[in-house]
Amino acid sequence: MSTGCLFCNIVARTIPAQIVLENDHVLAFKDVRPMAPTHVLVIPKKHITGIHDATPEHAAMLGELLLAARDVAETLGLAPSGYRLVMNQGPDGGQSVFHLHCHVMGGRPMAWPPG
Ligand code: 5GP
Ligand code: ZN
Repeated sequence: MSTGCLFCNIVARTIPAQIVLENDHVLAFKDVRPMAPTHVLVIPKKHITGIHDATPEHAAMLGELLLAARDVAETLGLAPSGYRLVMNQGPDGGQSVFHLHCHVMGGRPMAWPPG
C-alpha cells in the first residue's frame, strides 16, 4: 500500500470506484473518464508504479492481470466484436496514474496507430 496513491486508495476503499471484478490479486473498476463505451482499469492490489518496474518476481501477478482483463472483456460482452488492452508507461506513453494498470476498452472500433 502506498498511501498517497490514488489506485491504492481505491483498493483500500477509501476512494470509491465502480468495481466490476475482484480477486485476491487484482481489482477492476470503471474508468472515471471513459474513452470508449466500455472502459475499465485492471490493477494489481499490490502497488507497483508501472510495467517498467516489473521483475521476474511479478510474473504471476502480471499473468493474473491479463487474465482478469480477459475476464472483464468476457463479462462485459466485448468478446464478439473485440477490444483493446493498453498499458501506458511514462511520459511518452501517456501514463498519468503511477500504479500499474491495464485499460480494457471496447464497444467501438479502435483506431491504429494510436495518437
Ligand atoms: P493512464 O493515463 O495513467 O494510462 O490512465 C489513468 C486512468 O485513470 C485515466 O484513464 C483516468 O481517466 C483514470 N482515473 C484517474 N483518476 C481516477 C479516479 O479517481 N477514479 C477512476 N475510476 N479512474 C480514474
Ligand atoms: Zn498504488
